[in-house]
Amino acid sequence: MGAQVEQAKAVGFDDAPGQPALIDPFGRAISYLRVSVTDRCDFRCVYCMSEDMAFLPKADLLTLEELDRLCSAFIERGVRKLRLTGGEPLVRRGIMTLFSTLSRHLAAGRLDDFTLTTNGSQLAKYASGLAGLGIRRVNVSLDTLDPEKFRAITRWGGLQQVLAGIDAAQAAGLHVKINAVALKGVNEDEFPRLIEWAHGRGMDLTLIEVMPLGEIGRLDQYLPLSMVRARLSEQFSLEDLDYRSGGPARYVKVAETGGRLGFITPLTHNFCESCNRVRVTCTGTLYMCLGQEDAADLRKPLRAFEGNDLLFKAIDEAITRKPKGHDFVIDRRHRRPALARHMSVTGG
Ligand code: SAM
Ligand code: SF4
Repeated sequence: MGAQVEQAKAVGFDDAPGQPALIDPFGRAISYLRVSVTDRCDFRCVYCMSEDMAFLPKADLLTLEELDRLCSAFIERGVRKLRLTGGEPLVRRGIMTLFSTLSRHLAAGRLDDFTLTTNGSQLAKYASGLAGLGIRRVNVSLDTLDPEKFRAITRWGGLQQVLAGIDAAQAAGLHVKINAVALKGVNEDEFPRLIEWAHGRGMDLTLIEVMPLGEIGRLDQYLPLSMVRARLSEQFSLEDLDYRSGGPARYVKVAETGGRLGFITPLTHNFCESCNRVRVTCTGTLYMCLGQEDAADLRKPLRAFEGNDLLFKAIDEAITRKPKGHDFVIDRRHRRPALARHMSVTGG
C-alpha cells in the first residue's frame, strides 16, 4: 500500500495545479473507481433484478457530460483505474461518446486501465469501437453455457448473442475475462466445463459468491466458494497465485488447462484491508464501501457549480468516512438480505 500512496501523492493534470490524492483514514489510497452509468438492463438476472423492475426517471441520471466530469475529477485526484458498469453499460444511449471522451485520459497516461463489465449482449456491435479507443480488457458475465439455463438465469437473455459478443471482443483484440456467479443447484455442476471452455479460449474465469443484495436476496442459492474450490480440487490441480488484478479476486492456476481461475468471496473480509476502490451510481451517489449503506451525494455539488471545488469538497468529506470493512451478514433466521440495495444500482 505504501507504493500505492506514493504513486497517488503526485497527481493532477498537466494544465491544472496538482490536486492531493484521496487517502482514507486507514491510509488506503483511492485509485480505483467503478461507475454505474445506468440502472437499466436488457436482462433480468434472477440474483440481480426482479422481473418488473421500476427504473429511475431520466432527470435523476447524470448526463453523459456530468459522468465525464465526475470521472475526470476522480482521475484528477489520483484514480488510475476506471471501470464502467451498470445495469448494462452498453445499453445506455450515447455510451460510446462517454467511452470516447474518457479515453483521452488513457491516451494522456493519466489512467492505467479503462474497462467495463458487461453482460455481452451488445459486444458484437461495440467491441471493435471500444478496442479502437485503447480499451484493452473487458469483463463479461456468463454463468452457464447451457442455453436453457442461461435463459432461466437471465430471464430475457440469449446465450448465442453473448457468445457472438465474446467472439467479436476477442477478434477485436480485447482480453476477455469471464465472471460467473456460483448458484447452488443451478450452475454448480458446470464449473469444470466453464473452466475448460474459458481457458481453452485464453480467458480467465472468476467465480463470484452470490451476495445478499436487494429484496430478491437469493439466500436459497447461496453456495460458498470454499466448497466449490474443494470440489474442483478433486478434479484439477489448483496452485495459489500471487497475481492480483487490482480487484478482490484471489487467483489459482489450473495446472491441467494452464489458465487462471479467480474466486471472489464478498461475504468474507479478506480484501477490505487493501481496498482501494469506491463506486458511484448513475445518479451520482458515492458509495465508499459496497457492503455499507453510507453514501454521499455528488450530483448536487456537480450541478450547483461549474467548477469542481464543491465536488472535490464533497468527495474529500466522503472519503474521510470510508469504513475499515464491510458488514455483510446473511441473516439466516429471518432469511433477509443484509442490504436492501440492488447490484444494478451500485454496479457489480
Ligand atoms: N450488466 C453487467 C453484467 O452483468 O456484467 C454489469 C453490471 S452487473 C450488476 C455486474 C456483476 O454483478 C455481474 O457479474 C453480475 O453477475 C454480478 N452480480 C449481480 N448481482 C449479484 C449478486 N446478487 N451477487 C453476486 N454478484 C452479482
Ligand atoms: Fe443486467 Fe448485469 Fe444485473 Fe444481469 S447482472 S440483470 S445483466 S445488470
